[in-house]
Parts: sequence; structure tokens; C-alpha cells
Amino acid sequence: MSTKDESTPRLKLSGALDLSPAPERYPVTIKERYGHFVNGAFIDGNSDGDFPTINPATGKVLSTIASATETEVHAAVKAARTAYDSVWSKMSGAERGKYLYRIARRLQERGREFAVVETMDNGKPIRETRDVDVPLAAQHFFYYAGWADKLDYTVPGGTAAPVGVAGQVIPWNFPLLMAAWKIAPALACGNTVVLKPAETTPLTAMLLAEIFQEVGLPPGVVNFVNGAGGTGAALVNSDIDKIAFTGSTNVGRIIMRSIAGTKKRATMELGGKGAHIVFADASLDQAVEGCIDGIFFNQGHVCCAGSRLLIEESVHDEFIERLQRRIEALRVGDPLDKNTDVGAINSAEQLATINRYLEIGQADGGTMWQSPCSIPSEGFFVRPTLFTNVQQSDTIVREEIFGPVLSVVSFRTPAEAVKKANDSEYGLAAGVWSEKNAKLFEVAHALNAGVIWANGYNLFDPASPFGGIRHSGFGREGGVAGLWPYIQVEVPA
Ligand code: NAP
Ligand code: MG
Repeated sequence: MSTKDESTPRLKLSGALDLSPAPERYPVTIKERYGHFVNGAFIDGNSDGDFPTINPATGKVLSTIASATETEVHAAVKAARTAYDSVWSKMSGAERGKYLYRIARRLQERGREFAVVETMDNGKPIRETRDVDVPLAAQHFFYYAGWADKLDYTVPGGTAAPVGVAGQVIPWNFPLLMAAWKIAPALACGNTVVLKPAETTPLTAMLLAEIFQEVGLPPGVVNFVNGAGGTGAALVNSDIDKIAFTGSTNVGRIIMRSIAGTKKRATMELGGKGAHIVFADASLDQAVEGCIDGIFFNQGHVCCAGSRLLIEESVHDEFIERLQRRIEALRVGDPLDKNTDVGAINSAEQLATINRYLEIGQADGGTMWQSPCSIPSEGFFVRPTLFTNVQQSDTIVREEIFGPVLSVVSFRTPAEAVKKANDSEYGLAAGVWSEKNAKLFEVAHALNAGVIWANGYNLFDPASPFGGIRHSGFGREGGVAGLWPYIQVEVPA
């Protein structure tokens, strides 16, 4: 049922505005091949497993990447161990902080270059890399730089000591940002790092390594080993003291199995199926914007994406209508164009996964609606997609699609909304929209998720902890809580 006053004429926007192309042309240099970054130097590495990294907006190869063997991974861990024992764990927090500040400033100075390379390697719009990924990555280094000499305040009554060598494995959806989330707190606490970037998005890590050289970070404090899952597994099983993993729940399970019985510490940032609840008393236009941001930001390749929309029944039809009108105005296309809202899907593999879910959703009886926008003929693109007439038990409502696909269900009471929202194996993030604060707080407290946004979505701040519960993982990144996984507490006798 619609509450819309049918007599009120509405401005009808038909699709995206017709704008001239506005390509970001900042010149960048991408080398023909990248090996690894170990002990402060770029090394060629074994070439047997070389693989290409491509630009998903064109399908063209950007560079060739080496795949680190087990022996090479062990050498990187050894470099990190030596740097830990001889330099980094012994350095004062104030001194370590200076390095982190320098990294943050240099990242800001080279921000445009990082944004272009990230957009080319990942497919996300330049608007996002320029305004979100790169600035937030710099902010994480700034934030944790400030903690480096104050760590004892995080463990009242004790002294904060580092943990040792951290092995870190990251996904392709926020390549630079995930590296910053992991490296900044580890270094602030006096740990050294070996990080494996994702196979499809290694390039900004290689640029970050250049910054480590520029700021004179002692050799071995951060090492990058490129490669696919096998390289990640070699790192997990190497002589590290802690594993920090961000990626899928399935791979998280494999890693937890392989470190069971060892003394390795772990934090797991895994998948999600975020519920986004809109009450009838919400500011609907603002809620529409929040929902758009919740699912179409970064093409929906977001662990905390609001991929399940729950709308109060009395405004369901009106809300869908407003949402569709807004979706029609999204510009899908060349990620390097500053007008683009939705860029390319990161890989052919992920495109196939999304398309498979679109088929499953329809076969299960869902009504699929897609933006009528045009999409480029080359590269990997998906039209922003809505599914209505779906059930809680449907595959597309239960499983993480990791694409620009929003499924919509309705509810009648706050209790029903909470029940449906919590009906998921995941528990990473959720959102609530209402103009009634008491309702916001009551519902937010009843939701099972690590992060809840009220009247907003996908809002990030380095001071704010982020992480999940249940199959979305454990441990926090960001804020004071983001330091604890990298600290062991020494209590005076
Ligand atoms: P993924 O397949 O789990 O891969 C994540 C990383 O692990 C990649 O670097 C991957 O290498 C590596 N890897 C694969 N198999 C491994 C193994 N057996 N041992 C060690 N490492 C292994 O995840 P993805 O597809 O790249 O990323 C999407 C997932 O990440 C989604 O589920 C998303 O929700 C999750 N995510 C979570 C958060 C969070 O904070 N909770 C944030 C971002 C993303 P390859 O690159 O070669 O596959
Ligand atoms: Mg790529």
C-alpha cells in the first residue's frame, strides 16, 4: 500500500544526467612486473608462478606479479623477525610514531597517484578512492601514530609490549585501506609485519612500499609477499606470532583450522550480510541515500554492505519507488571518470558469482529489477539490482553476494524487523532509520552485529572500532580496541 498523495505531482528524473566525460588524467607509473618487498628492498622473486593483474574496467593487463613460494615467504618472515628483535621492538613509542606520521603525510602527498592506481587495479570509482580509500588510509596512520607513545594507557595497571611478527592477509575490495588498517596498529605497538595483498589488487601495496623506503622505515619492519591463496597459507603456517586476516568466512575457517593448537594469536574480519532497517517514521529521502550508499558504494564489494533492506510495510511501495528513481540516476561506467558512481566489478570471477546469484534469485521466485542504465561493452559491469518478493529463506537473502544487489523484505513491527535482521549466520553490520531516538536505540541494542549505524550507513572513522560477531569473525580494527590484538600485557610482579 502506498501512503503517497496521488494528487501531488512529482519531479520525474529520468535516469542519470547527461554529463560530458570528466576523466581523471593524473599520470601514474606502473611497472611491467612486481616481485615482492622484503627487508626494505624490492626483489624480483621466483618467476614460475607469475600472474597478471588486470584493469577490470577494460580487461587489459596492468602488470605482471610474482607469486611468492614457501621459501620466499619464510625469508620475508625471517626479515621481519630480525627487524623486530634488533630495531622495532626496542625503539621508543615516540620514535615509532614519527615514522607513522611520515607515512601518513607522504600518503597524503601522493594521494592522487594512489587513487588512480587503486581505481585502475580494483575498478572502484575515482570519486571513492580519492575521497574515501586514500584519505581514510592516511587517517589510520595518523591516528595510530598518536597512540605509539601512549600504549600503556590502554592496559591500566600493566605495560603494553608487542606481540612479535604479524602475518597479515587482505582481500581485494579495499586494498590500500585494508593494508593501512592492519599495518598502522601493528607498527604503533612495536610489531613487525609480513603482509600478503590480494591476488587481483597488489599495486597500491607496491606503492606503499615505495613510501616506506622514502620515509626510511627500517628494513624488514614491513614486508609484502605477493601471490594467491597458497602464498597466504604459507604465511599463516610460517613462524609468525599473530595472524590478522580479512576475507571470506570460508578462508577464515581454513586459517583457524590450520593454526589450532599453536600459540598464534588471530583476528578474523570475515563476511557479512548487513540488514538495513527503514521505519515508516524515518526521513525517507535521507534513508534512500543511506540505502544507496549501503549497497552500491564500491559496487557492493563491501563486507558490511547493507545488502538486506527491511522496509516497514506501510511505506514499502513508496520507498521502493523512490529508491528506483534514485538508482536510475546512478552513473555506472568508467571508474576513472569523476562523474561515475558505480564502477567495475573487480574480476571476471566475481562477475560470474554475481550473475549466478541473479539467476538463483529469479529461479527462487524473486522479482528482479535493474537500473535501465547503459553499461560499457568491455570490462566487468553489473547494473544496480533490486530484488523484491523474496523470502528470508532465499539464497540471495542469506548468502553474501558481494555485488550491487539489494534484496528487500518488509516488516510490520520493530520486533519483527529485529527478528528478521538477526536471522543470519553473519553479524558484521546493520543500519536503522527512524526519526524517533528511543526506537533507534532500542532496535540498535537488539541487533546482533558488531557495528550498528543509526540514520547513516558505511560511516568510518579510525577512532571507531570495526569488526564482527558470529560468522563475521572476531577482533576489532580501529580505535583503542584495534591496538589490543597487537599488544601483550606485562603486569608488574
Ligand atoms: P578471500 O577469498 O577469503 O581472500 C582473502 C585473502 O586471503 C586473499 O588475499 C586471498 O588470496 C587469501 N587466501 C585465499 N585462500 C587462502 C588460504 N587458504 N590461506 C590463506 N590466505 C588465503 O576473500 P576475498 O574474496 O578476497 O574478499 C572478499 C571477502 O572479504 C568477503 O567475504 C568480505 O566480506 C570479506 N571482507 C571482510 C571485511 C571485514 O572487515 N570483516 C572487510 C573486507 C572484506 P587471493 O587474493 O589469491 O584470493
Ligand atoms: Mg587488478
